[in-house]
Amino acid sequence: MIAYLERFVHGNDVESRQNDDDVVDCTSLCDALNLQGSIDSVATGLADKDFGGLRSIKPLALIRPAGTDDVARVVKAAARSSNLTVAARGNGHSINGQAMADRGLVLDMRSMEDVFDVVVVNGTAYVDVSGGALWEDVLKRCVSGFCLAPRSWTDYLSLTVGGTLSNAGVSGQAFRYGPQTSNVTELEVVTGKGEIFVCSETENSELFFGALGGLGQFGIITRARILLQPAPDMVRWIRVVYSEFEEFTRDAEFLVTQQDGDSFDYVEGFVFVNGDDPANGWPSVPLDSNHGFDPTRIPKTAGSVLYCLEVALHYRNTVHPSTVDMVVDGLLGRLGFVENLKFELDLSYMEFLLRVKRAEEHARAHGLWDAPHPWLNLFVSKSDIEEFDRAVFKNILKGGVGGPMLIYPLLRSMWDTRTSVVLPEGEIFYIVALLRSNLPYPKGPSPEKLVAQNHEVIQYCIKHGLDFKLYLPHYEIQEGWKRHFGNQWTRFEERKENFDPLYILAPGQKIFSRIH
Ligand code: FAD
Repeated sequence: MIAYLERFVHGNDVESRQNDDDVVDCTSLCDALNLQGSIDSVATGLADKDFGGLRSIKPLALIRPAGTDDVARVVKAAARSSNLTVAARGNGHSINGQAMADRGLVLDMRSMEDVFDVVVVNGTAYVDVSGGALWEDVLKRCVSGFCLAPRSWTDYLSLTVGGTLSNAGVSGQAFRYGPQTSNVTELEVVTGKGEIFVCSETENSELFFGALGGLGQFGIITRARILLQPAPDMVRWIRVVYSEFEEFTRDAEFLVTQQDGDSFDYVEGFVFVNGDDPANGWPSVPLDSNHGFDPTRIPKTAGSVLYCLEVALHYRNTVHPSTVDMVVDGLLGRLGFVENLKFELDLSYMEFLLRVKRAEEHARAHGLWDAPHPWLNLFVSKSDIEEFDRAVFKNILKGGVGGPMLIYPLLRSMWDTRTSVVLPEGEIFYIVALLRSNLPYPKGPSPEKLVAQNHEVIQYCIKHGLDFKLYLPHYEIQEGWKRHFGNQWTRFEERKENFDPLYILAPGQKIFSRIH
């Protein structure tokens, strides 16, 4: 069987092979691997595409595993071959080909059997879901079936559980509950040796913490146990505007450092251009089309960019609206935003969590969703965030990025340092997300130009010694990765040796090269 697989891997480039008669015979490959699931011809597969749209790398085959045993069989087969790699593909929402495998085997994790079990352990509710489950499905099933919900989210939910747990999973709830990696208590993982382990803080803990934020390097997450809480019914969603960065950060930091119950349930923020550009400026702030942005309210001292603090309060249907008003007014009364530049909307909890789905529909309708997305995400230490604002937002990016430029504070103590994620120093650090959304070239700017601008931002940070880490990191060479992990590199390398000694898994991250 290995000889059969290897016929396809050795030899010349993939394009010419596929034009031969010698194309991958999916049925034979499936039989050879003894899979319950199926194998797709790579020509029609999704496996060479991702949301970034910046690269396209052809695999040998796209495999749709039926369950964990299939995943293990595929990894074992790759381990017995001389050079096959295996990439788990969540929903392909990476930017730089992280879920691709050059002439390797790509596993479409979304095809994994449906797992959905709500369990109660010592009075606390959890849900067991497949690593390939989409967060939006987890939300809908938990709320509609059990009035429960996970505590920590991403802004957009058409992402897989295994995909976000391999990074961190961050949104406006993370200041209180930590990232999604801090809200999972047990995983089932298939290692790079094809072994299946259940792991947790107390059982196979090195694999558990390694896999969380592990960029897919140590194992494929086939199941996760996620902490639940009672789901609120409604959300009041609020945006307020600042002209001064120091006031914006002071208020954001105040809110994220209050005790549970003394703050909002969600805190985020973004930078926008002080102008009328529809994508980058004032019109990007109101929460619905009935709201207008009155620029005469902006102080005369304001600069080229403004700041928006975005907060939300959860509440139950049974609570009287005047009580919600009172709590919100009490919290907003402690903040120093520009008077009368406030936008509010009440919506259901599900509508709130699915808000980016509506943005997706809009982007699809305008040809923006399928265009390239050279996004850049960073974590920047509080100690350097003012300099970052001055050099990056007010200078390099003063014209905007054609989409949201998120910035909000997070607390290091809510992150478990035993996971594989690396962070800047200090208790408070900011996530910065440049979520570029432009029409495809030549109607919009060329992706190369935008990638170069990202590079300029990163180079500024390096050259001026800013304390930062890339989030959803991407480096082309191992030197970049060593710098990224810093004093955690040795731990990362040791975990790789332990759990994936042949360097089979997640080759698209370009951290390690398959050992032949
Ligand atoms: P993929 O892109 O398919 O995979 C990502 C990496 O994880 C790959 O290396 C892959 O091999 C590996 N992998 C995938 N599944 C598994 C698995 N089961 N086990 C082990 N490894 C696996 N992130 C945030 O934190 N917060 C946000 O608010 C947020 N919003 C986003 C909005 C949009 C529109 C997009 C496109 C992305 C957003 N992200 C956000 C980033 C997102 O978390 C990453 O793209 C992440 O990789 C999840 O995407 P995915 O499930 O499609 O994984």
